[in-house]
Amino acid sequence: SVRTRIAPSPTGDPHVGTAYIALFNLCFARQHQGKFILRIEDTDQQRSTAESEQQIFDSLRWLGLDWDEGPDVGGDLGPYRQSERKHLYQQYADELLAKGKAFKCYRTPEELDELRRERQLAGKATALKPSDLYLPETEVAKREAANAPYVVRMLVPEEEGVCIINDLLRGPMELDWSMVDAQILLKSDGMPTYHLANVVDDHLMEITHVLRGEEWINSAPKHQLLYEYFGWEMPVLCHLPLLRNPDKSKLSKRKNPTSIRYYQRMGFLPEAVINYLGRMGWSMPDESEKFSLDEMIEHFDIQRVSLGGPVFDVEKLSWLNGLYLRELDDEAYLQRLMSWAFNKEYVSSILPQIKPRAETLSDVAPLAAYFFSGMPNISKENFAQLKWPEEVDLVEQMQFLVWEMDALRDWNKENLMQRIKLLSQAAGMKMKDYLQPVFLSIAGSTTSTSVLDAMVILGPEISRARLRFALD
Ligand code: ATP
Ligand code: GLU
Repeated sequence: SVRTRIAPSPTGDPHVGTAYIALFNLCFARQHQGKFILRIEDTDQQRSTAESEQQIFDSLRWLGLDWDEGPDVGGDLGPYRQSERKHLYQQYADELLAKGKAFKCYRTPEELDELRRERQLAGKATALKPSDLYLPETEVAKREAANAPYVVRMLVPEEEGVCIINDLLRGPMELDWSMVDAQILLKSDGMPTYHLANVVDDHLMEITHVLRGEEWINSAPKHQLLYEYFGWEMPVLCHLPLLRNPDKSKLSKRKNPTSIRYYQRMGFLPEAVINYLGRMGWSMPDESEKFSLDEMIEHFDIQRVSLGGPVFDVEKLSWLNGLYLRELDDEAYLQRLMSWAFNKEYVSSILPQIKPRAETLSDVAPLAAYFFSGMPNISKENFAQLKWPEEVDLVEQMQFLVWEMDALRDWNKENLMQRIKLLSQAAGMKMKDYLQPVFLSIAGSTTSTSVLDAMVILGPEISRARLRFALD
């Protein structure tokens, strides 16, 4: 029976692209009475965090994209977290070594650079082939005896020619072998790379169909070879078109919020987001614009995916969201409002900001408005009126700030303070003055109470979006 999966890496904010791919995998599985699996690909131990993993679970659940097997719900073919499967990858790498389909490579980073340079000078593709990497046996023995670090690499064809990959949407695709390098399968620390772990797990988890972003097409020849080497049947591959910004470039947080949590915090309804994602490259047989997840599952047909780059346009999503909102009856509307932000927890977190300044309760709503709104109503003139030293470029500083805030993982007051302090020092300014444009961007005025507290309350998604919005 059909088994599909998504395999996100818990290395950052939960991406709308992940939700989009999850939606199509879910629909495909459900339509065939199959199973949909969530696997966490956390082999990059430097960048993976438990917090990010939890956010993936929460965001997908918020959208109603439930999985049948996964790290948090269990299943027969687990564990579903790659960091808990390390021994398996080791074992399968050993199998390939024994079969002569992989080799230990003792080449140093300097040697690799030199080898690439040589290929480039010879006018060849820079993908390193096994023949480039082999060392004389005596040299291998020497390095082995010295306990030099090594990686395990896969054998790949040396010759020119093409590899044929069958794709459910594209049919047979030809990819040049010359571009396929002797991929590292196990790193020197014994951790697998994406390619080995992904293939081993898809096989062991009995995945029948791999629906993933088209950014992975170039990896398919390696995966196909690995399935051949192991003697395993390969799942059906289907590469979905990537989401795009309105200017057709790949969806990027520089131009469009990409975190699912942003849409949640902005007050989008999950059913509207799902509906919109369902229209990314896909349409209902009757071309209707508004449909539920159940309706999508009922009418799903993967062949109706069109390969032109689907544009993720927040304005269109907002329009659709409005339709959903207006349809709610009063009781349901109230429920949504309360679970969104008009609840005890959120309002309590705001109170300390309001209390010192309100003289009557009727002051509260205007003072707190920016905790409940989207982008503030500010203009270039507002920035021009700030007391700001002429010799410091304000736009440049705001750009630095946006980058710093994007990179900040532990979103708390101390960290915010520390980062902004460093920026202000680098600009030769007092923190207090430096914070003026931050106040304006976050709160829409320079007279609010602590802007750092406000940023903590608003959370990283809304805060980053407002700083970015101010920059535009
Ligand atoms: P950004 O450029 O905004 O930082 P990114 O490409 O770095 O995004 P990743 O963290 O690499 O994002 O990707 C997170 C997940 O989202 C991956 O599973 C990736 O396949 C998916 N993804 C990223 N961009 C897109 C896109 N444009 N369309 C569909 N899926 C995407
Ligand atoms: N871990 C990969 C990602 O983050 C999985 C890609 C795949 O589906 O094979 O997108």
